[in-house]
Amino acid sequence: MGLFSRAVVATLPLVPKFAVGKVASRYVAGETLEEAVEVIRRLNGEGAMATIDVLGESVDDRTKAEAGVEEYLQAIEAIVEHRLDANVSIKLTSLGLDVDQDFCRDNVRRIATAAKAHDMFVRIDMEDRTTTDATLAIYHQLFPELGNLGVVLQAYMRRTLADVEALPDEGANVRLCKGIYIEPRAAAWKGYETVRHNFVATLDKMLTQGVYAAIATHDEFLVCAAVALIEKHRVPRDRYEFQMLLGVERQLRRILIAEGHRLRVYVPYGADWYPYSIRRLRENPEVATHVMRATLDRTFGRNGHE
Ligand SMILES: Cc1cc2nc3c(=O)[nH]c(=O)nc-3n(C[C@H](O)[C@H](O)[C@H](O)COP(=O)(O)OP(=O)(O)OC[C@H]3O[C@@H](n4cnc5c(N)ncnc54)[C@H](O)[C@@H]3O)c2cc1C
Repeated sequence: MGLFSRAVVATLPLVPKFAVGKVASRYVAGETLEEAVEVIRRLNGEGAMATIDVLGESVDDRTKAEAGVEEYLQAIEAIVEHRLDANVSIKLTSLGLDVDQDFCRDNVRRIATAAKAHDMFVRIDMEDRTTTDATLAIYHQLFPELGNLGVVLQAYMRRTLADVEALPDEGANVRLCKGIYIEPRAAAWKGYETVRHNFVATLDKMLTQGVYAAIATHDEFLVCAAVALIEKHRVPRDRYEFQMLLGVERQLRRILIAEGHRLRVYVPYGADWYPYSIRRLRENPEVATHVMRATLDRTFGRNGHE
């Protein structure tokens, strides 16, 4: 990352919300469920599946967590009502993980039970390392009971190969991604190439074990390696999928679909769009510089531009 980009990323929290919103709107479907439905309808039309993320950060009281559950129940209803090819992705800290682990598990059970009634899958996102054990514990408790649950493993975590080893023998469904949180070296591999290496090693192990693989990356090197592993293991088309974030690498997405791979787009929506957008912008300083420019344009009275 260049010096200017680093400076832009470091000052992102100081950038006014309107400017973040202007550029970050490419990563977020909107503030309402109706907007998310429209985006998914368009994605389905392009041959992509979707997963809905109701944006919400960590909550510290039960009422907010229960409100989060209600939003997911509505999202599930909307998917069914509009016959969308979509499922849901949930974040445990927005469903009360920091309040009480049993309470959070019960909230996940409510969402997964509602989804199961419609034959719909629920993905538990992975957050930072302080939540990994609890997240996997809830997954391992509820999976045998419900079946329509999957989890996420992060290739930057040193523990990930062992976590694959511990997956259920039958029916495991794992999204593999690099990992987005800033973790200490004791917990996470640090080099860019090292993380790529662990991604490939983990995917290889998942496919060897017969795990359904949701390959979440926009890194063309990893997409290329994944395609080779899919061929090597002769994985049928319905035993894996690629996944990408809304607004990122649309071209690669279309190429993979045209080649006959299944691909799912992660579609976040909700009033809580700001922290999610900041995380996305930190990942891509090039976009962050557009945010800066939008701020300067507004400050100096010029019209904003992309
Ligand atoms: C569907 C999905 C679900 C995810 N779920 C989780 C999760 O549960 N937990 C978690 O920790 N992380 C999650 N992530 C984030 C993931 O861990 C990475 O941080 C993110 O995907 C970037 O890694 P990459 O493999 O795309 O490689 P990178 O090397 O970061 O990116 C490769 C290329 O993709 C493009 N790109 C990547 N990010 C952006 C961006 N924001 N804007 C524009 N271009 C971009 C750039 O061209 C870049 O060169 C998820 C990612 C996806 C795709």
